[in-house]
Amino acid sequence: MQILSQILFIVALALAAYFITRRVILIKKTIQLGHSEDRTDRPAERLKTMLLIAFGQKKMFNRPLVGLMHFIIYAGFLIINIEVLEIILDGVFATHRLFLPFLGGFYNFLINFFEVLAIGVLTVCVVFLLRRNILKIQRFQESRHREMKAWPRNDANIILTIEILLMWAFLSMNATDTLLQARGVEHYTEAFTGNFIISQWLQPVFSNWSNTTLVIYERFTWWFHILGIMSFALYVTYSKHLHIFLAFPNTYFSNLEPKGQMANMPAVTKEVKIMLGVEQPEATPAEVGRFGAKDVKDLSWKNLMDAYSCTECGRCTTACPANITGKKLSPRKIMMDTRDRLEDIQKGWLKNGQTYDDGKTLLGDYISEEEILACTTCNACVQECPVNISPLDIILELRRYKVMEESSAPASWNAMFSNSENNMAPWKFSPSDRFNWVDNLK
Ligand code: SF4
Ligand code: SF4
Repeated sequence: MQILSQILFIVALALAAYFITRRVILIKKTIQLGHSEDRTDRPAERLKTMLLIAFGQKKMFNRPLVGLMHFIIYAGFLIINIEVLEIILDGVFATHRLFLPFLGGFYNFLINFFEVLAIGVLTVCVVFLLRRNILKIQRFQESRHREMKAWPRNDANIILTIEILLMWAFLSMNATDTLLQARGVEHYTEAFTGNFIISQWLQPVFSNWSNTTLVIYERFTWWFHILGIMSFALYVTYSKHLHIFLAFPNTYFSNLEPKGQMANMPAVTKEVKIMLGVEQPEATPAEVGRFGAKDVKDLSWKNLMDAYSCTECGRCTTACPANITGKKLSPRKIMMDTRDRLEDIQKGWLKNGQTYDDGKTLLGDYISEEEILACTTCNACVQECPVNISPLDIILELRRYKVMEESSAPASWNAMFSNSENNMAPWKFSPSDRFNWVDNLK
């Protein structure tokens, strides 16, 4: 029986490792669809940004209470999972609390600490579920934000429920384990820990159970806990919760330039410099390529990593003046659409091979012209994002494509373009008339 359990455990572990690795490789390949962009300068500043924004969750604390609750989930989840290492080794070697002999008294301190975090995580998850489903926080409601339809809404509920169940499994596993130790049941006496700080209060729930029932329940929660964590790790790669991992590289590779500074297109800058005579044309000019972006392949790898890092929190959308004034644009939807496009490309690869082209494009099939034209380029979305994502980068690239490749800007914009070109200002006045207003001064 013991050996069968060990084999089953090793098979489950190998399957989980295989599927997770496969998925990670696929996501990496999808991000690499984007063109290159150098984000390796100023490493010390990058490290500081990552430590503050991802590790320290600085922007989350703009709203202190929610920030604190999010921090409890995040810290609890990361720290409690140290205990998973022991569970894995116990599963492989059929031992019971393998680390206890090595850590001595510190072992109980650690498990007590994990239990305090576990009850914190469980409580916060319940509060977050209530916030979303009973208090109906506006930015998560489909009635106000069309991108929050079935899957994005259910994704958050699924993850919160899984976390509650995992924490319950951890605490009740400890409660039944310590009861079995106290009753001197074989295998459980291999490691005598005594009671733990939180789970001891759950013992009355189980104290009338027979030894056999207790062993079945303890084994069930042990398997549920570890299989749950393996499934969770795989599920996360399909979910917005990928930000748990991607927030770190995504903030490290943040844009460190001032927010209002737009990235010029090198080919256009060169042309302007040649026109102004500050640069000479090359004998054989380099191929210019496409202006702006029509599909994800025209965006940079960082734009695509942004899409996978988006937490779908909607802070960007609630700060967006276009969205607030009823326009169709939602920066969160821009990020979700970009990710959907990447996921659809992946599905096409898996079904029809890597050369497959479904004929769709990000602009047109996922994001409409009306959405990108509504952007005021104010950068509020970039400022608000807790993981330093820039929806504006993608919007600007899509717009550049519309204007420069398809020459399809709104008429009012075209008038502004020709005024800028002819009058060196957006208005319809000759430069020589600029100071006419002075004539009327007394
Ligand atoms: S930059 Fe554009 S998308 Fe972002 S908040 Fe401003 S108007 Fe909205
Ligand atoms: S882009 Fe940033 S602020 Fe907007 S939904 Fe995604 S994570 Fe939240």
